[in-house]
Amino acid sequence: MSDYRALLARARERIPHAMSSGARVLLTDPEVLVEGKNTVIRNFGDIVDSIRREPLHLLQYLLKELGTAGNIDGRRAILKRKLSEQQVKERLGSYMATYVMCTECNRPDTHLVKEDRIMILECEACGARRPVKQMKAQQTEKVPVLEERKVYEVMIEDLGKKGDGIARVDQYVIYVPGTSKGSKVRIFIEKISGTVAYARLATE
Ligand SMILES: [Zn+2]
Repeated sequence: MSDYRALLARARERIPHAMSSGARVLLTDPEVLVEGKNTVIRNFGDIVDSIRREPLHLLQYLLKELGTAGNIDGRRAILKRKLSEQQVKERLGSYMATYVMCTECNRPDTHLVKEDRIMILECEACGARRPVKQMKAQQTEKVPVLEERKVYEVMIEDLGKKGDGIARVDQYVIYVPGTSKGSKVRIFIEKISGTVAYARLATE
């Protein structure tokens, strides 16, 4: 990986808008730590501050989506289950997509208002309003998603401009250099950033 930033910028240009997920718009990356049987989000307070939402609202969403109990402990959140950073990021991403991001201008400068029992998301940047609805319900069912340093079998569906093979799994776009369109290959995931993954051919 010669220049990761350049790769990322290149990849972003190539991702159609519809494929971008909330996970890429996190304002503050979660600091996720497994402690025994629990998962701690160490900077939970910073995350809710950055999106200006109620800590309990976000916590309850995460508990429900991740099927676990948990509580807030000062600036941290404790979830009573072992979770990967990726799992936490995804649920934070779908929370952002549902309760924070303006779908018109794609900015997070919004607030929630309640009107006739309907929750409305109001954008302070462009004035757009939309009812809140679960944006990514279909994704939240699947817990095992791509993980770094693991091997997967994928189909190369496309070639990027620079000739890298492109595979898609779930919401991910995976770049695999040295592959050809239509081939089925075993890949090793080297790096995941949001919904973009960089892989190489598995060597075994
Ligand atoms: Zn807006």
